[in-house]
Amino acid sequence: TEAHIKAVEAARPLNAYVAETPEIALAQADAADAKRKAGDAKAMTGIPVGIKDLFATKGVHTQACSHILDGFKPEYESTVTQKLWDNGAVMLGKLNMDEFAMGSSNETSYYGPVKNPWRAEGSNKDYVPGGSSGGSVASVAGYAAMGATASDTGGSIRQPAAFTGTYGIKPTYGRCSRYGMVAFASSLDQAGTITRTVRDGAIMLESICGFDPKDSTSVNMAVPNFEAALTGDIRGLKVGIPQEYHLAGMPAEIEALWHQGIEWMKAAGAEVVDINLPHTKYALPTYYIVAPAEASSNLARYDGVRYGLRNVPNGGGLNDMYEATRAAGFGDEVKRRIMIGTYVLSAGYYDAYYLKAQKVRQLISDDFKRAFEKVDVILTPTAPSAAFAFGEKSDDPVSMYLNDVFTVPASLAGIPGASVAAGLDAQGLPLGLQILGRPFDEETVLRVSGVIE
Ligand code: GLN
Repeated sequence: TEAHIKAVEAARPLNAYVAETPEIALAQADAADAKRKAGDAKAMTGIPVGIKDLFATKGVHTQACSHILDGFKPEYESTVTQKLWDNGAVMLGKLNMDEFAMGSSNETSYYGPVKNPWRAEGSNKDYVPGGSSGGSVASVAGYAAMGATASDTGGSIRQPAAFTGTYGIKPTYGRCSRYGMVAFASSLDQAGTITRTVRDGAIMLESICGFDPKDSTSVNMAVPNFEAALTGDIRGLKVGIPQEYHLAGMPAEIEALWHQGIEWMKAAGAEVVDINLPHTKYALPTYYIVAPAEASSNLARYDGVRYGLRNVPNGGGLNDMYEATRAAGFGDEVKRRIMIGTYVLSAGYYDAYYLKAQKVRQLISDDFKRAFEKVDVILTPTAPSAAFAFGEKSDDPVSMYLNDVFTVPASLAGIPGASVAAGLDAQGLPLGLQILGRPFDEETVLRVSGVIE
């Protein structure tokens, strides 16, 4: 823990942490030491981790990297972090992220962008770490945490993992409790982990999963021993390759990496099968209706009364306070989502956009259901590009949204998915492969991840 506290300080130029908690870490480490000596150690005992800023940590900075939650320190602990502490883990601090987890590059944080510890060979530019869990991946890739919590609404665990050569796994919707997670889009939000290896991911993920009566969408199912799933044996497993993920204009290197992944599967004795997910092309527009709609509703609670920031213009009334607080408290991307969400939910547009999107979401989910009658897992690239330099996409929201093309379908369907580091591009930047599995079959996702790693 002491070495990690120093590593967190040394990694400050990355801007991965928005709050460092060395006193808490040292106290937890002492308690962990005592447990270990008493022969009472658990899998995470004494392991220093970072926590994405959207998990409520009692008495500690929890702002989802938004100005509107200025100074907010919750009175309660999220279930995910409570489970980590119950397992003996040690908190190094709170991690930077896109504001309210809206973004794919960690450029929308109120606390400024996070730098990717990687950059293209010979380049003097800084690269984005991906998003929204930019602090989580940068801290882990930069050796300033052994693991980190993260959340994935449309790809925020998997895409940044791919951009930093780390392992990111998002379990099935309902596997982890959302209690105490700052809500973005409640029907999509799912907690998960970022680690440097698949084995670490299996151990840390297992420690945060499980039923929680405080979250009505949490599922009451036993959590398997995920580490035991890493047998390395995928003989006879059926691996689906969705033809719709061959995007026109995708970099040849990403196609080549995907092909390499297929060869690795065959060499390990798996059977590779072409499959179709015919509604894939509607996933991105569907996501960018459903997610903002839910966000506009969830973010209505930031009214200047209950949390954080309050701006009261001189002589103004209640409405003026709402307006002044929200105008100053939310960043541009969050405002854009609130406007889109309010629009698609408004009378006259609801049927044309929101209701339609809900129906298409079902079709996308059915595509996966049908595919998983034939195959055990699905293999795709994680993202259509490697990490990009700062500012490259930040003026163009649509090109930023396009980066989520391979991750949002699984989020809409609620199925588990992981991104495993699979190689480097010609510039020396990491690339990831995505493995998707049947609902509640994280074990097979982990097993296949282990074979690729
Ligand atoms: N990049 C996507 C978005 O901006 C996904 C974010 C996430 O998963 N939290 O909405």
